[in-house]
Amino acid sequence: MQPHPTDDAYGPDMTRIYLSAPDVGQREEDAIIAAVRSGWIAPLGPEVDAFEQGIAERTGRQYAVALSSGTAALHLALLGQGIRPGDVVLTSTMTFAATANAIHYVGAEPFFIDSDETTGNIDPSLLEHVLADFAARGERVAAVLPVDLLGKPANYTLIEPLAAQYGVPVIADAAEAFGAYHEGRPAGAFGVSAAISFNGNKIMTTSGGGMLLTDDEKLAKHTRYLATQARQPVTHYEHTDIGYNYRLSNILAALGRAQLSRLDSMIARRRQHRAWYRELFEGVRGVTIFGGEDDAQDNVWLTSILVDPDVAGWRAAELSAALAADDIESRPLWKPMHLQPVFAGARSLVTGASERLFTTGLTLPSGSALDDSQMARIGQRVQEFLTKR
Ligand SMILES: *Cc1c(COP(=O)(O)O)cnc(C)c1O
Repeated sequence: MQPHPTDDAYGPDMTRIYLSAPDVGQREEDAIIAAVRSGWIAPLGPEVDAFEQGIAERTGRQYAVALSSGTAALHLALLGQGIRPGDVVLTSTMTFAATANAIHYVGAEPFFIDSDETTGNIDPSLLEHVLADFAARGERVAAVLPVDLLGKPANYTLIEPLAAQYGVPVIADAAEAFGAYHEGRPAGAFGVSAAISFNGNKIMTTSGGGMLLTDDEKLAKHTRYLATQARQPVTHYEHTDIGYNYRLSNILAALGRAQLSRLDSMIARRRQHRAWYRELFEGVRGVTIFGGEDDAQDNVWLTSILVDPDVAGWRAAELSAALAADDIESRPLWKPMHLQPVFAGARSLVTGASERLFTTGLTLPSGSALDDSQMARIGQRVQEFLTKR
């Protein structure tokens, strides 16, 4: 059998070094088999309830609703705020397309706001400018949707009061930041609701899955209802709303619980990689570790470097090509949404910050499953590349 791994399929290719491959082992295998043997196969069951409880505890939320993906969580979070066609949602341009796609699913219009230069997260001063501008024109903003980029929460200390001042709800895209903190509060605890993701490459995985987190009991109930085809509780399945099939399966929740029990050690391992990259690039001219020095509260999901080609004498893409020649995956930061063909024509407030991050950034292998010999191989290739410059 010839494996054909793509960027998103972590195939059984033993020599390729992936950006962030799933970190699963005996504990996960045992949990999945136990779930199968319990007879709770499809779709819901006790593992889902326990997994929701575990995630709610970890994020300090009252309610957690397990769903089939982080994208589904964003979709239902937007529906939960009654966002509808014609509404405007302010969001970060520096994000994965799922954020903006979910805004489209409900027929709303995304308005893209540029990044803070250091963190890549939505710039609160630009957000303030846009909110004031909309208010001055008498145009309604339906929601603010900040994104916690690469495991560093957005600046909710500024964003939450700002949105409240304009009477706009905050929905947090914490898909990349589960396990992180902002000023001592867990990622996922901010906003009226937050979405997290357990996709295969995230900090922990259920193969595919996500959760909506909230403190609002009615919202949690309504989310469960919409996620299970909006069935009224009668035997003939009366329907008064359009529903979705978005719930997480019991077997995948068992995998999630095993992962959750290892979350802290997986974050610690990624933190070791971050420190190791800091050392590797220490003193290399024109190269900085993306996100700034202050990463103690991040979940350090992915480690990226920024390369100033004028100072370094080389471009991020050249290092990427050198790594690819040895089957080592690396990738630019997210291409900003305002530059994506599918969102051409969307309104935005951009300064060039996210575009600079996109053109100078390179994300390096960061997964917790990477062993020391793989890290050494990456180090060797980087050193060889630097020596040739
Ligand atoms: C991964 C991700 C999502 C989507 O999560 P899925 O579980 O893959 O649907 C949404 N937003 C951001 C910022 C992400 O990185």
